Amino acid sequence: MKKPVFYNRTAVMIAIVAIVVSTATLTILSYKYTVGRENVVEDSLIRSNVKLVEREVDRIEQRIIDNDRSLYNMADVNDQSRWREVNDAIKKADLGVDQVWFLSLNGNVLYPSWSPGIKDLHAAFTRSFKTRELNLDRLHPDETNHLHKERREDYFFASYVIKENRRGEKILVCFQMNHGKVLALLDRYLKDLRSVYYVSVVDYENNGVSGPPLDRVKYFHESRFPSTFYKWLLQVVPRNYSEMERVARVQRRTNFFFIIMSISLIFLSLVIIYFAVRRERQLIQLKADFIGNVSHELKTPLALIRMFSEILTTGRVKNDESKLEYYRIIHKESDRMSRLINNLLDFARLERGAQTRHFEKINIADLVKRELETYRYQIQKDGFQLVSRLEDPLPETLADAHSLTLAFFNLLDNSVKYSEDHKQITVSVIKNDGYIDLSVADQGLGIPGSEQQRIFEKFYRGSNAAVLKTRGSGIGLAITKHVAEMHGGEVLVESEPGHGSTFTLRIPIREVPAGVSA
Ligand code: ADP
Repeated sequence: MKKPVFYNRTAVMIAIVAIVVSTATLTILSYKYTVGRENVVEDSLIRSNVKLVEREVDRIEQRIIDNDRSLYNMADVNDQSRWREVNDAIKKADLGVDQVWFLSLNGNVLYPSWSPGIKDLHAAFTRSFKTRELNLDRLHPDETNHLHKERREDYFFASYVIKENRRGEKILVCFQMNHGKVLALLDRYLKDLRSVYYVSVVDYENNGVSGPPLDRVKYFHESRFPSTFYKWLLQVVPRNYSEMERVARVQRRTNFFFIIMSISLIFLSLVIIYFAVRRERQLIQLKADFIGNVSHELKTPLALIRMFSEILTTGRVKNDESKLEYYRIIHKESDRMSRLINNLLDFARLERGAQTRHFEKINIADLVKRELETYRYQIQKDGFQLVSRLEDPLPETLADAHSLTLAFFNLLDNSVKYSEDHKQITVSVIKNDGYIDLSVADQGLGIPGSEQQRIFEKFYRGSNAAVLKTRGSGIGLAITKHVAEMHGGEVLVESEPGHGSTFTLRIPIREVPAGVSA
């Protein structure tokens, strides 16, 4: 017989390997995609940080340049006698200037002229503002430049420009800025940025100029002011950077969780499929064995019946005792066949899900007694010692007599079949805690613990060699279990290999079972 593809071991193995390989590929791809996406998100966050900081630096520089423009416009170089006025007006305006200096291109200070009163101011200015170092030749007239010197205790920041007066003389005007005012100006400009970022201005040695230097965490960025405060750096870190990191972490964990979950589900499904396929294969095997067993079970008694009936019909058996023996054999074997056929029919009904129940009030002890009377002789003739303990009086209960007889016969038949040399069977019926317990105990083969659940499965037969050489179809206990369940009861087994087994059919004592009319 050709096996369907589904049960073909090679096809199943190929399918499983294909699933495992594609799962692994998908896992690697989704892992790479997740990590890649995280990096892209991070990169774009960092890039937008950088852009924002650079825009802010531009904006601040632009404001300084605007400030320079105002200073330039106010610095009138035509009339030297008005320079004091110009200086005062500029200092008064909110432009951050400490002192306006007017110089000739060779560095001579024209205003304010030296006097003992401003000697220190003069000295400090000339120490920082050295025209030789400024490359004035390359400086276009009217173009403002900056000098930024970052020295502790001796800070210097100035804007300077060359202006021509009406007489065509070139005057170098220098606006020396006040440190505090410059910082106040910066603070004002950075106010908006501070609402979203931690912001600091530091010098090249990372000393805080405005605010303490920031930690170089993940989203940290710093940028220099290219043309104004060129000795300073602007540092920023998004205020919610820890939140951003937390979100990224949570996102990463969630992604991993889903990846792991999907893989586990796929593997779990594989395991389920594997067991389902295995079970299906076992069932096919069991069915094949079953057909073989049943045919054998039918053939053997049929052959005996045929043989002995033939002998009898020839009329050659003169001895009455032998005749009686042959009749008994024919009766016993036909009875076995009819039991087997009954079992099969019941099993077929059970398989179809169609069951005819006929519940009536019965005394289970009486039922068992009747059955034992029928079989006692036969069993004892086979060398068994049969003990019965039937509780009297026993309460009646609602039960299906036909099914109970069948179940009891299966248990009794099994104990005969699997007793081997220890031929003692005890049948008892007692009332126990709301149940009638019908037990059949033998001293025979016993059942290993690993098989004690499986023996109730349909078609299942024990693996013991002694079991396999005994006639059987593997449906007796499945039917018995079904009979117990249809009465709302159960079948229990207690057994030890080599020491016999006790099967107990437990039927609840019921007056009127739900949904069934007696
Ligand atoms: P069958 O007897 O036709 O094999 P059953 O369903 O009646 O099928 O029993 C299933 C299996 O349970 C048997 O094959 C045997 O291994 C085990 N078994 C049942 N009753 C006994 C018993 N009294 N002693 C030992 N093994 C038993």
